[in-house]
Amino acid sequence: MSTTREITCIGCPIGCALTATIVDGVVTDVTGNECGRGPAYARQECVRPERMVTALMFVPGASRPLSVKTARPVPKDKIKDCLEAIRQTRPALPVRIGQVVLVDVAGTGVPVVATCDLAAPARVVITPLARVASAACAGAAAAAAGTKPRREAKGVVTAVADKQDGRCCARK
Ligand code: SF4
Repeated sequence: MSTTREITCIGCPIGCALTATIVDGVVTDVTGNECGRGPAYARQECVRPERMVTALMFVPGASRPLSVKTARPVPKDKIKDCLEAIRQTRPALPVRIGQVVLVDVAGTGVPVVATCDLAAPARVVITPLARVASAACAGAAAAAAGTKPRREAKGVVTAVADKQDGRCCARK
């Protein structure tokens, strides 16, 4: 039994209108294509359609979701399963662009890869030097405002502040 099917090629922006002739489930003829990729796409689309899948993946500890995609097209009827598998996956930080975050999505044999970097959140470490600098800032601000700094680190505050701003001499 012979049937025809009209499809639009997605191989490039031209979007040729293809007409595929199908006999007993086999594409025997394709017309309307401007280049050789059209018939190949028509055969694929008529017999076993495939699509790339893109999605966002939740990453514990990250400030935003991770954008991911399948490394290759997956069967169209597996898209829902792929999205569910992606939804259940929790990669660990940090993630690098191109990193495989899911080896075999929904049994298709196709990996899922990250399409951007996602860094681990920065750790804030308070060192003794940072405390001195912080106290100096507090002293300078207090001196400018004519008020007393909250911390009683007078010597440290004035010593550092003197090098930065002579107005802090009132704290000596
Ligand atoms: S058949 Fe060729 S020229 Fe036409 S849309 Fe497909 S890839 Fe582009």
